[in-house]
Amino acid sequence: MADKRRIPETLFDDLGFRMTYEVERVLYEMQTEHQHLVLFEHPFFGKMLTLDGATQVTTKDEFVYHEMMTHVPILAHGDAKEVLIVGGGDCGIAEEVLKHKSVRRLTQVEIDASVVEFSKEHFPDFTKPVIGNKRFDLVIDDGMNYVATTDRCFDVIIVDSTDPLGPGKILFSQKFYNACKRCLTKGGVLVTQNGVPILQSGELTTGIRKFRKLFADGTCYVAAIPTYIGGHMAMGWATDNKRLRHTPLKTIAARYRKAGSFPTRYWTSEMHVAAFALPRFIADLVARAG
Ligand code: SAM
Repeated sequence: MADKRRIPETLFDDLGFRMTYEVERVLYEMQTEHQHLVLFEHPFFGKMLTLDGATQVTTKDEFVYHEMMTHVPILAHGDAKEVLIVGGGDCGIAEEVLKHKSVRRLTQVEIDASVVEFSKEHFPDFTKPVIGNKRFDLVIDDGMNYVATTDRCFDVIIVDSTDPLGPGKILFSQKFYNACKRCLTKGGVLVTQNGVPILQSGELTTGIRKFRKLFADGTCYVAAIPTYIGGHMAMGWATDNKRLRHTPLKTIAARYRKAGSFPTRYWTSEMHVAAFALPRFIADLVARAG
């Protein structure tokens, strides 16, 4: 019997290692205008999406990242009505944001329409509650261009981007964070996917250094996502409201109850508060940001 195809995660080739994933079935593969896209079925992780050789989402562990990138900033803010997602083509984060009935409008700016298109077919759990929802606006554009030109302001901006390569590179730039600050409401929060510190330490330190040129509070919180290889994933945190990440546990729990205690599989009010307690080596990287 012929060996099954194996799809490599090439993101860490320069560190001398590669993960490979056995392919049950390729569901979709194409070179889009912006990136190389493969969607396939894996025997354990379920449906997996890779863009330019980097794992983006799997049906097995998506809940960790999607819940922590969404419920932490929204419940810490406490009164988020206007939310912006930059990237997020699979709509996994949009689905979580719309669980917050207090959010009046969610705008998603995605550069690659084909990611949203095939997600409608292959990630219906994410897209069904989102596409067509009257609180949801989808804009196909480069996130840099959108935040630099929009006249709207947002209480929470969630940057669910690819890694700082190809189309995603600009979303890690000072120029982009300057423009995000411009369209954040007073005391608003910016959260970003900021890589895996043990493997992408520079990405974290430089990201936080850029935050601190603009915001009173620039740091990160963490969670472990099995298919984002390397242990803790860092989620960048930037706001002028220094108190937000110190919101007491009972206040977060009360806000979650008020939001209807929708089901979660990773996020809890305890995990929310604990996520800002950083292991020493990550705290040192944050401190190094100056
Ligand atoms: N959670 C994943 C991760 O951490 O690697 C990211 C998932 S999501 C699929 C990433 C999305 O960012 C993709 O759909 C990609 O097309 C989009 N993207 C990349 N660069 C972009 C840009 N400059 N503006 C808007 N969207 C962008």
